[in-house]
Amino acid sequence: MIGILGGTFNPIHNGHLHLAERLQQTMGFEAIRFMPAAIPALKDIPNVSAEQRADMVKLAIFDYPTFEIDTRELERAGPSYSIDSLISLRKELGDKVSICWLIGSDAFARLNTWHRWNELLDHCHFVVVKRPRSEELNWSSEVDALIVAHQTNDVNALKNSASGKILIQEIAALDISSTEIREHIASKTNVSDVMPSSVINYIQQHQLYQLINGYL
Ligand code: ATP
Ligand code: MG
Repeated sequence: MIGILGGTFNPIHNGHLHLAERLQQTMGFEAIRFMPAAIPALKDIPNVSAEQRADMVKLAIFDYPTFEIDTRELERAGPSYSIDSLISLRKELGDKVSICWLIGSDAFARLNTWHRWNELLDHCHFVVVKRPRSEELNWSSEVDALIVAHQTNDVNALKNSASGKILIQEIAALDISSTEIREHIASKTNVSDVMPSSVINYIQQHQLYQLINGYL
């Protein structure tokens, strides 16, 4: 059973690592792959390249033997659609391997906006982790219906099949976001307790996130 954690990782932080660590402990993945997304040019933070986001992921996961980086979305031209990554992963891993897409509740609540979203469960399971302050989210009725049709509480059901199930894991997520971290760095607020020191050093070395949204 392989876990995939997709995200923009702009930058990666302890919330991502904690989520992966806790799910690794409770579910026993052979590996968890961190998969940075390419960001449309207009949404990108000026002066932080995709390669730098990937470098920071590599530094953050260095000490974890079962965590890996998967750069397929950065090697592909155009927007990063998860459905394309899943189809490509299936070609690599075959149809039998259990693939679990690990995701925070804020992102899962908007799943119905993803490209070809109703095909995703043909290729993977979803493991959803409740993120702090996500109670107010409006889960769309389409996502609700998907949960009703596919939810299980049995980890073995995910281990023993390749795709098609949704597991909601009640682990305590950390209240950390990349958005807040970018603001903190720009305002010179200390971030040493929310991200690995190797990533902080990299950010300092390359002078990243010094300006909020690059404009202030
Ligand atoms: P931003 O604030 O820029 O959106 P982010 O902190 O949400 O950044 P992403 O790269 O967007 O980070 O998140 C990638 C995945 O990790 C998403 O599924 C998201 O829900 C999840 N995630 C991010 N931070 C946490 C956290 N603190 N706890 C649990 N899951 C998280
Ligand atoms: Mg986010």
